[in-house]
Amino acid sequence: MNPGLPSLDELYREVILDHYQSPRNRGRLADPDVASAGSNPLCGDEIELSLRIRDGQVADVAFEGRGCSISQASASMMTEAIKGRPLAEVREVLGAFKRLMTERDATDVDLAALGDLEALQGVRRYPVRVKCAVLPWNVLQESLDLYRAGQARARAREE
Ligand code: ZN
Repeated sequence: MNPGLPSLDELYREVILDHYQSPRNRGRLADPDVASAGSNPLCGDEIELSLRIRDGQVADVAFEGRGCSISQASASMMTEAIKGRPLAEVREVLGAFKRLMTERDATDVDLAALGDLEALQGVRRYPVRVKCAVLPWNVLQESLDLYRAGQARARAREE
């Protein structure tokens, strides 16, 4: 079976397939603080993300989804990269990964901070597949924005 993986370096392929076949943090949180979903109609990818946020940190995160190996592996890697991190750092990782995927000369990106996500940098050569890799991150972006808006509303009610 070919899960739709473009030709990438062997090592990167293995990392991506490992996340695709054994996704980390898969499922739905019972009582999330924020949840969001998105799709990439071009490829048929769907991602649903739920987050529990405590003391300004991602206390827990889970995703459901279907679609190609790139989108699902990216979601799995993303949950590993953000779990337990303060929201400010999560936004940094989000920005760094998007730059890695969309900018030709993203030399300032700290690959070590991205962990397994580094394996997706080869996807940059396939513009159509970049949308697959970035989809979970767009859903994350929306979740963070929703959460922030909710916090602002809660503060406004208190005042
Ligand atoms: Zn895809």
